[in-house]
Amino acid sequence: MKEIILAKYGEIILKGGNRARFENVLLNNIRNSLREVAEFDMRLAQATVYVEVHDPKKLDLVVERMAKIFGLVTITRAAAAEKDIEDIKRTAGEYLKNDLIEGRTFKVEAKRSDKGFPLKSPEICREIGGYLDDEFPSSVDVHDPDRTVRIEIRDFGAYIYCDENKTAGQGGMPIGTGDRATLLLSGGIDSPVAGHMISKRGVEINAVNFFSFPYTSQRAKEKVIELASILARYTSKINLYVVPFTEIQIQIRDNCPEEHMTLIMRRFMMRIAERIARKTKSLALVTGESVGQVASQTLSALDVTNDVADMPVLQPLIGMDKNEIIERAVKIGTFDTSILPYEDCCTVFTPKHPTTHPVRANIEKTESRLDVETLIEAALAGTEMIEVYPR
Ligand code: ATP
Ligand code: MG
Repeated sequence: MKEIILAKYGEIILKGGNRARFENVLLNNIRNSLREVAEFDMRLAQATVYVEVHDPKKLDLVVERMAKIFGLVTITRAAAAEKDIEDIKRTAGEYLKNDLIEGRTFKVEAKRSDKGFPLKSPEICREIGGYLDDEFPSSVDVHDPDRTVRIEIRDFGAYIYCDENKTAGQGGMPIGTGDRATLLLSGGIDSPVAGHMISKRGVEINAVNFFSFPYTSQRAKEKVIELASILARYTSKINLYVVPFTEIQIQIRDNCPEEHMTLIMRRFMMRIAERIARKTKSLALVTGESVGQVASQTLSALDVTNDVADMPVLQPLIGMDKNEIIERAVKIGTFDTSILPYEDCCTVFTPKHPTTHPVRANIEKTESRLDVETLIEAALAGTEMIEVYPR
């Protein structure tokens, strides 16, 4: 018996005339993601990607990888049979023997997309259902079964699987179909989730981190690299730009009123990130704010911060509650790393009473005490680029 993977894609179906282009990007992404884990053959038909893995021991690993590829909605292991009802029975019997055990109920659903197959769907259900009912101790329940057995008669063969053994995919659009954006990646909980959400829409990302050595330790930098490497499981390699930020923070601390510190610092981040974005052909910045979460995330604070950026600032978490963000962080696998204690550059220079409703003119006035352009140039000159691979 041969077991293969059927992966179904989602939104691409809506792509009309452009569909082939999206499909090609998706296939390429799958090829790249699986290349180092297994040898396989792949083809696409009827909104489904068929993956035949040469070594059956690698199937689990391949499913795990595919569950991280944007664009796929379900990844299903299925037994492949000849398009012959006797072979389908035999194969179903062998494949499902561990599912149809004593005390469990099942039903069979059939779908015949190859209309040349001699039996119609209800007849297939009856034949296979009857056979499985006779062969195994479980019994039929068409209303609320423990296992829904699916038989699909498709172009290249017949496929058998249980709904309950499907793996949920990421959904979204394949990376590479939506340009590039630059993520401001801190060591916190929020920004990795923001990066995941934007790349889920098919956008390739690179990342910028502002690093205040020695106020923040080498460990804090490693934590950011670790977060980028978790994100890279979904996106493939991420270029991470680590910007030395200490001098800027010291200048702000020594020259600007304490309550303006955070906002002026955030404005520097946006300006520098935008320069890096332009140099790397990114079309937008991505940050992890949500309205009202902290003082620098009131609407007026966001206004004063984003004011310095001349490109769209995408803030996918903007309407989410902290617990919703945490839920996502757990799901994508970044949470445990995000909560490691190593401090972020901002926590070191946090004012006691930050302005929550800043007046733009006042911020601009205090900021003008600094040589903004020279500070930016120096930070960019000291920026290190790290290629981060999935880990
Ligand atoms: P996070 O959990 O993502 O750190 P936060 O709730 O701590 O977010 P802030 O510290 O106000 O919020 O930062 C808002 C956003 O600014 C972050 O989500 C991130 O996109 C960006 N940012 C903050 N600090 C840094 C940093 N050191 N390097 C890069 N980006 C940063
Ligand atoms: Mg933070």
